[in-house]
Amino acid sequence: MNRFLSFGQDARRIAEADSVAVIGLGRFGTSLALELMDSGTDVLGIDDDEEVVQALNGALTQVVRADATRMDVLQQLTIGEFDRVVVAIGSDITASILTASLLLQLNVPVIWAKAVDEQHGAVLQQLGVHRVVYPEKDMGRRVAHLVRGAAADYLEIDKGFAVVKTIAPHFLHGVTLASAAVRHTHDVTIAAHREPDGQWSNAQADTVLHDGDVVLVVGPTNQVERFAQLR
Ligand code: ATP
Repeated sequence: MNRFLSFGQDARRIAEADSVAVIGLGRFGTSLALELMDSGTDVLGIDDDEEVVQALNGALTQVVRADATRMDVLQQLTIGEFDRVVVAIGSDITASILTASLLLQLNVPVIWAKAVDEQHGAVLQQLGVHRVVYPEKDMGRRVAHLVRGAAADYLEIDKGFAVVKTIAPHFLHGVTLASAAVRHTHDVTIAAHREPDGQWSNAQADTVLHDGDVVLVVGPTNQVERFAQLR
């Protein structure tokens, strides 16, 4: 039996499950594929580098060495039957664009692609790729907020609105959240809290925080950053 044909049958079985195909297993693609596996999603990984494929053998549902810029290869791997495909090829922009264009021709319902810069992203978007992500740019922005602020973690939900993880400031210790009225006084919402034993809970009006508790704070970026600096 032809090598790709047997891969194709395995790939079809994977496509029938809750599954994702990840094309390009560099640092981003590998980390994404392993995280999907950890969350219980079957992953078909594709890369044209034999060493990369060998290294991930057994860690993903199926890993195949193949050139994703060839339509015959994608068809043999039944990529058109996957609901979600991620193009995680970055520095080889031509390969990324060619692959995305073939996936669109195969009518894959949801295509995600990683872009290395604005121009790359604009071309992917013009082609019709459904979701374009900029991991380096996004991580750079996120780390900038962590570097300049005091938050333990930071996530921008949308322009100007963010969530931060920070230590509960002193003025919240020993009082209920309702009486602290942080929404009124600081224009932020305490969404959840973690006690020293590591247990997270949703914050309620009658929640009382203590020294060492960690809180998740949601609100306008400037306000949550200011809140994270309170001690
Ligand atoms: P990262 O930053 O995630 O490590 P990168 O931005 O440097 O990746 P590339 O090196 O271009 O991205 O590609 C990531 C992976 O994609 C590599 O392992 C590479 O072998 C693979 N790749 C590149 N072109 C193709 C192709 N035509 N078909 C399949 N895989 C490919």
